[in-house]
Amino acid sequence: MSRVGKAVIHREVGKPVSVEEVTVLSPGPDEVMVKVSACGVCHSDLSATNGTIPMPTDTVLGHEAAGTIVELGERVGDLAVGDTVGVSWIPMCGTCRFCIMGRPALCDRPAKHGPRMQDGSSRLRDKAGKELNHFMSSAVMAEYATLPRQSVIKIDPSVPPECAALVGCAVTTGVGAVLNTAKVEPGSIVAVIGAGGVGLNVIQGARLAGARAIVAVDTNDEKLEFAKVFGATHLVNPTKDGDAVDRIKKTVGAPDYSFECIGFSDTIRQSYMMIRKGGMAVVVGIAPASQKVELPAVLLPITEKILTGSMYGSTRPRVDFPKLIELYKTKQLLLDELVTQRYRIEDAPRAFEDMKKNARGVIMFD
Ligand SMILES: [Zn+2]
Ligand SMILES: [Zn+2]
Repeated sequence: MSRVGKAVIHREVGKPVSVEEVTVLSPGPDEVMVKVSACGVCHSDLSATNGTIPMPTDTVLGHEAAGTIVELGERVGDLAVGDTVGVSWIPMCGTCRFCIMGRPALCDRPAKHGPRMQDGSSRLRDKAGKELNHFMSSAVMAEYATLPRQSVIKIDPSVPPECAALVGCAVTTGVGAVLNTAKVEPGSIVAVIGAGGVGLNVIQGARLAGARAIVAVDTNDEKLEFAKVFGATHLVNPTKDGDAVDRIKKTVGAPDYSFECIGFSDTIRQSYMMIRKGGMAVVVGIAPASQKVELPAVLLPITEKILTGSMYGSTRPRVDFPKLIELYKTKQLLLDELVTQRYRIEDAPRAFEDMKKNARGVIMFD
């Protein structure tokens, strides 16, 4: 049955988000309805509202959540009402060449449908009965969400929902970039540019991988102090310490790996320039589509450096989500420390304003 609840909606570019009552339609045959327990406020949600990510208006936001299944589509046989689930924002199809080769983060299918369900329609209506879009195949910044079955992963119900929610984006993206994409080797020197929600998770991923030096680079001293908690061994603030590339090379030597977690052409260039010959620079941040990166072409052959990207931590959600939750339970992965502030859904506009100062703000539902 359809359910009515509050949702956070992007109505106008550059304007604060709006909190409205919406109707969430019952799930189709291969879908489930989830009662959302917690939803993180991620930089990508903000990017949708200010136009950095091109996104139509009238979109229900949110893509980093955990909750409980309240209704199953008729063909869903491997989940039950009452199951605790995390949400993946790539509903892997399981049949395209990328899913088959074990790289569902590159699945062809979600992109084709944009802000709609897999059949091209919407499960969301506003008070006037008008169709609303689903942000990142998810739309989980809402009391209820109807999702493709492939988007939900059964997880341990004993984990606090705000911690489980963060696994769905920031943690998977950051830790996955280190463990899945780069496969950082023990004893490596790692530089991390940008110590926000994703950057902190790259830092703790590098710690888990056994890096011997982890340099956090950020222009904000508070974020750098926080980076220490997650495992940074050296801190660089380019506004005080001068050029980050020089500073890092002088302090720890040229890194084996660098991770760019901002999405900005200058810092992407720096992340390539700073690594050692044969090292790997991984771009995790999503830059605006207009930005271009220029590199001295001669360096490509003579240094054999690898410049690559990491999409959603190259995750295989059904393998990685339970693994990350287990690492949390055994106190190897920090999740509680990521949650800086909890909000009620009515305070969502403030949660968006606070994004710069929070590691992660999380909207909690009753
Ligand atoms: Zn996100
Ligand atoms: Zn696929």
